[in-house]
Amino acid sequence: MSTIPYKIYLEENEMPKQWYNVRADMKKKPAPILNPGTLQPVTLEELSGIFCTELAKQELDDTTPYFDIPQEILSFYRMYRPSPLVRAYCLEEKLGTPAHIYYKFEGNNTSGSHKLNSAIAQAYYAKKQGLKGVTTETGAGQWGTALSMACSYFDLDCQVYMVKVSYEQKPFRREVMRTCGATVAPSPSMNTEVGRKINAEFPGTTGSLGCAISEAVEAAVTQDGYRYVLGSVLAQVLLHQSVIGLETKAALDKYGIKADMIIGCAGGGSNLGGLISPFAGEMLRGEAKYDIIAVEPASCPSLTRGVYAYDFCDTGKVCPLAKMYTLGSSFIPSANHAGGLRYHGMSSIVSELYDQKLISARSVEQTSVFEAATTFARVEGILPAPESSHAIRVAIDEALKCKETGEEKNIVFGLTGTGYFDMVAYQKYNDGEMSDYIPTDEDLQKSISQMPKVD
Ligand SMILES: *Cc1c(COP(=O)(O)O)cnc(C)c1O
Repeated sequence: MSTIPYKIYLEENEMPKQWYNVRADMKKKPAPILNPGTLQPVTLEELSGIFCTELAKQELDDTTPYFDIPQEILSFYRMYRPSPLVRAYCLEEKLGTPAHIYYKFEGNNTSGSHKLNSAIAQAYYAKKQGLKGVTTETGAGQWGTALSMACSYFDLDCQVYMVKVSYEQKPFRREVMRTCGATVAPSPSMNTEVGRKINAEFPGTTGSLGCAISEAVEAAVTQDGYRYVLGSVLAQVLLHQSVIGLETKAALDKYGIKADMIIGCAGGGSNLGGLISPFAGEMLRGEAKYDIIAVEPASCPSLTRGVYAYDFCDTGKVCPLAKMYTLGSSFIPSANHAGGLRYHGMSSIVSELYDQKLISARSVEQTSVFEAATTFARVEGILPAPESSHAIRVAIDEALKCKETGEEKNIVFGLTGTGYFDMVAYQKYNDGEMSDYIPTDEDLQKSISQMPKVD
């Protein structure tokens, strides 16, 4: 009988009271974000026109290691945090592995993912600034859902531009957002100039994330009392998501467990960045070593097959440019079922850590991801999100390697959310109709060659 419980929870007094900014411990910092017009580093004043001032400050601050979490946010976190760190005893037994597998489960809130950790912070700062509301984009809808919940808590207006194909094909998340009082427009819409332009140029287009971002930014800067918020990629989002890693580390430390391997799925890099931040910090300070793996879909392989360069974050080219591993902002991934991982670029912090070889990356194919998801769902009692299942895939692969070598590694992975709204994807998998399109080098070269030339 092991002394480690199935679920490790933290007591109130063990919960993190500050977020951790890993950039403070990086000797070589991520490159600054650039104004798309002047190609000069963005100033606080410029950024404050798009983002809430406090969030713009967080975005540009790469030296302050800890930020106090405001009391109002701590109170909200208390409703669904700490999230459990679960020892996957049943999965270990099923695999017959000597490895010890742990997962940090972020799906225990109605929005169903880790995105609420940053949504509530962003809504708080908007409210504190006296704004009327915020605008944003959403793809499959997890971010829009989380933000809608956060805005309703603080009585803020929430305007969501939802990629049209998801708006039409995934009505349920849309209805959760509307239930929380948000307005949801299919993007490209006729509300914005950029939306009207894209609709005229590409009649019948079903939209893209990059296009929805452009619409949301335009909506924010053209309405008094509104700012734009974004659910991934940005440094501020990784800062808020560090709560995941801080809790994970506190839970492991509580039982004297030293992680050998830390695995997370990577779309824009926010959950992975948040999960690994305190561990990467230890590595950067020379205090410990971990094997950290970012897992991305083979259909959208920004780390494993992209280039490290300045690129646009959106199709309309209105957002600041970021230096990141990217496939080019015109890259449109094939219809992969992990909507949250279909972004052309990667957080500049995760990109820089990867470039410094502090972390590694792997890409996995969709059907093998769903195979892992199914194995997990059958023994661990949680139906995982397709995005999260990328991490499950690699955790299982590594646990099976341990079975061969007899190593008792401690494998920790991030289980970012639940997949109840992704049943069409599970249906395709169960019916044997799922495909594994992997872009050719030619496909990638096309979008990469269209990137801006900066340096
Ligand atoms: C959005 C999302 C992701 C990917 O976003 P990151 O910013 O890379 O973390 C992963 N899992 C779930 C469940 C999501 O909703």
